[in-house]
Amino acid sequence: MSSIPDLVEGFQRFRERHFERNDSLYQQLVKEGQTPKTLVVACCDSRVDPALVLDCEPGDLFVIRNVANLVPPSENRAGHHGTTAAIEYAIRILKVEHIIVFGHAQCGGINTLVRSGGVNNPDSYIEDWMYLAESARASVMAEMPDAPLQEQLHACEQKAILVSLGNLMTFPWVKERVESGALTLHGWYFDIEHGQLLRFNTTMDCFEAL
Ligand SMILES: [Zn+2]
Repeated sequence: MSSIPDLVEGFQRFRERHFERNDSLYQQLVKEGQTPKTLVVACCDSRVDPALVLDCEPGDLFVIRNVANLVPPSENRAGHHGTTAAIEYAIRILKVEHIIVFGHAQCGGINTLVRSGGVNNPDSYIEDWMYLAESARASVMAEMPDAPLQEQLHACEQKAILVSLGNLMTFPWVKERVESGALTLHGWYFDIEHGQLLRFNTTMDCFEAL
């Protein structure tokens, strides 16, 4: 567990690694700018940092993290659309070639959604946000109403990834690029209990180990 002095020491080690050599990766990234090929939409959960889990270097991934790695649909209502703005930047400015919606096991956001029982509570920012994935919860409850809670949670974590992939296609600048082959969407699920990475296979309509 990192205290603030640990974090400051961590930065010193990072600085030595990345800034104290003239040919360092950061020197190059500062000179040439960032050109990540992949956008990852991941959860805020402290255990699922995509750069760590996927062993990436600075500059490799453009990352959005929010509660339960959700993508909202295209909508015109007023508000502060942080996730949508970052997706637009990755697609239209950086021209990424892949989007990975990166779900995970033991997701606190999904747990809140399942326990809410399908009620949207606008008094809670978390519950209102998680209501984006209500169709995933409803579908799991219809398909496996008597399953143990852990199984329902895992199923909902995976179905919520598919909801986000569907929502991505509601943005015309995503849809056009997917249809032209310039952009590919991926649904991945990090099983933190077993140290496995699964991906959604659209042909088989299921998640499978990578
Ligand atoms: Zn989560």
